[in-house]
Amino acid sequence: QLPLALLLSLLMGYIVWLATANRMSLSWQISYGITAREFMVYCQPLINAHNGQCDGIEMLLRWHNPRQGWIPPDVFIPLAERQNLIAPLTRFVISETVRHLPDLPMRSSFHIAINVAASHFRERAIIDDLQRLWWPANPQPQLVVELTERDSLPVVDQRVVSHLHKVGVKLAIDDFGTGHSSLSYLKTLSPDVLKIDKVFTAAIGTDAINATVTDMVISLAQQLNIGLVAEGVETAEQAEYLRERGVDALQGYYYARPMPLGDFPAWLANHKAF
Ligand code: C2E
Ligand code: CA
Ligand code: CA
Ligand code: CA
Repeated sequence: QLPLALLLSLLMGYIVWLATANRMSLSWQISYGITAREFMVYCQPLINAHNGQCDGIEMLLRWHNPRQGWIPPDVFIPLAERQNLIAPLTRFVISETVRHLPDLPMRSSFHIAINVAASHFRERAIIDDLQRLWWPANPQPQLVVELTERDSLPVVDQRVVSHLHKVGVKLAIDDFGTGHSSLSYLKTLSPDVLKIDKVFTAAIGTDAINATVTDMVISLAQQLNIGLVAEGVETAEQAEYLRERGVDALQGYYYARPMPLGDFPAWLANHKAF
């Protein structure tokens, strides 16, 4: 008994020693950070473009590393994806969301969007994780899975997609029009929503080529009867432009910055529709 306890505490001490002095690689620090509860879930409101109500939130991970301070998702998410650490992070987001559900609106029109890497679709892993973590929480708002894809071409299992549709999860294609997120997704995923990436929103009124892409994505989605969310809305002009063209929901600093999940109920109570 005693030697084992001693061994364990030595091991823990070693891990802490490694972690505190910046001796670990970033991927080790991610694994360590998950157990050390260094990650936090923030959320950003989605505004209904027709009436200005808050129709949902997108969950966004934040990492405060005691050694290095805030590390942006654009740094640690791609790394986590490559090191097979994205699934534990996603599970953390789901559990945190479930933990905060009692404080969130329960109407069925309220959407909760989580970002899920395409690799998490492999071998039904996302289905198993939702089964274990999301569905037992009852009742739940509408769940939206935002499929993000950075590194490789889509290898999304068709059976996983149909299963998610069958159980009522909505599928959104994130960052549509950038990187590897291609037109072929429209056929293979039958998405419910396209998210217009912020580079296209930023182009409105400034960059003719990207603004043309924005218009094309909007008309594409409308012809295919797919919902549209524009991200990165920072100005009244952008909001107006997107609204006039029939985009369904707007998300961006113009309405609200991402905030700790715990701050959302107070924000919502103060939010005024149009
Ligand atoms: P994303 O999914 O496209 O999320 C939108 C990003 O735009 C967020 O960056 C958000 O903070 C930022 N943003 C929102 N409104 C505005 C705006 O008006 N202007 C500008 N300039 N930016 C705005 P964030 O939180 O740094 O996340 C970056 C990316 O990291 C996300 O992009 C997403 O791809 C990834 N990510 C974040 N959390 C998760 C997660 O839990 N799981 C996975 N797989 N990826 C995540
Ligand atoms: Ca997203
Ligand atoms: Ca996005
Ligand atoms: Ca984006």
